Amino acid sequence: TEKIDEMIERMQNDYIKFVRLQFVDIHGVPKSIALPSKPEEMESLFYDGLLFDGSSIEGFADISSSDLLLKPDINTYSPLSWRPEESATCRFICDICTSDGDPYPGDPRSLLKNALDDLAKKGYTYNIGPEPEFYILDEDNLGYPIPSDNASNFDVDPADKGVDFRRELSLNLEELNFKIEANHHEVGPGQNEISFKFDDALITADAVITYKQAIKAIVNNIAEFNNQKYSVTFMPKPFNGVEGSGMHCHQSLFKNGKNVFADPDAEYGLSDIGLYFIGGLLKHAFPLTAITNPTVNSYKRLVPGYEAPVHISYGLKNRSALIRVPAAFGESTRIEYRSPDPTCNPYLAFTAMLAAGMDGIKNKIEPGEPVNYNLFELSEEELESNGINPLPASLWEAYHSLENSELLMNALGPQIGNKFLDAKYAEWDDYRVQVFNYEQRKYLDI
Ligand code: GLU
Ligand code: MG
Ligand code: MG
Repeated sequence: TEKIDEMIERMQNDYIKFVRLQFVDIHGVPKSIALPSKPEEMESLFYDGLLFDGSSIEGFADISSSDLLLKPDINTYSPLSWRPEESATCRFICDICTSDGDPYPGDPRSLLKNALDDLAKKGYTYNIGPEPEFYILDEDNLGYPIPSDNASNFDVDPADKGVDFRRELSLNLEELNFKIEANHHEVGPGQNEISFKFDDALITADAVITYKQAIKAIVNNIAEFNNQKYSVTFMPKPFNGVEGSGMHCHQSLFKNGKNVFADPDAEYGLSDIGLYFIGGLLKHAFPLTAITNPTVNSYKRLVPGYEAPVHISYGLKNRSALIRVPAAFGESTRIEYRSPDPTCNPYLAFTAMLAAGMDGIKNKIEPGEPVNYNLFELSEEELESNGINPLPASLWEAYHSLENSELLMNALGPQIGNKFLDAKYAEWDDYRVQVFNYEQRKYLDI
């Protein structure tokens, strides 16, 4: 109660007039219900939660048992910096419960929370530092999206039109409690990245949702204010022929506050636990890709030549490999899993990567030798003779493999696992029957 009283007081001090109760659907798309913030009603909201209709949320309850409960996680309180300062809005990220108050098995956030609780019983915490990339878009005369500038990696103003946006975004994200590390123009025209400090996987998954939501809203606000057409996309490959947008995930395990991936005496500074974790990720990488790269478009990013991985392998400082071991030692020892993109549901993706890595530790899966050559320069045959296999080439390949992965289907649990597969099947089927301009150009005259 003390914590709740403090919270209510804090909300009054922040002039909060609206409370958003937020959660995500199975795809990681944020959803929220806004309530007027009345101090006398907040206590019961924190204790009892709010009933809502779960039947219209993708991956959730059936219409026959549609009542679900939103329980605000009081640790996630955040005034929304991009909303008005007077009559301000705050949000809480919620856990979803059944109407009886039990954890709801279709809630992606609870899934990750449970996985991390189990991990904590073994004494471990799981840290993730994500690097979501995005494009700032403008419109051409016909209203089609085009990149907002023609700049490239680490360019500066005025060629880099993202500087002012990144400045505003970075300041706003700090207000939203992000520990911003750096921002820069990425390789693609109009492509940007703002990186933030790693944290526990649950905090980071919440942060990824907030990051995408805030960045889109803030750029929209700025554009609207200045009568411009700018917008933001996290689409993995918004244009053919330029860099895609990834969300590399730096990761490590800690035990008693110590990084257990670190071993200063070992080769590469990486402990056996770290190597086995890599072994597990590599072993399950193929089906895992359905979760870390869950859209049809995701697979147009995973092609040679753009610093996005195409093959299942790991390397030291090697940006063509799926897993890179950065030249960081001691407490900063970590591995970078490079396939995920910003369209993944971070709760599901982190749960699944953890399950894969832990399987590696449990079964002492050796990752083999790191590759130190540019994988994009070898032919498929050469790679195959080196024992290096490709990642799935399409969503279709990926979800069919996920379906047969006992480990990952177990990690997702029956409800989320099956609803996820159904959704991906439908998504692929919808895509499969489309006829694109490209095909017309190529085949109309045949
Ligand atoms: N944009 C690249 C990708 O699709 C990554 C570039 C980088 O290394 O930051 O993964
Ligand atoms: Mg980057
Ligand atoms: Mg990176």
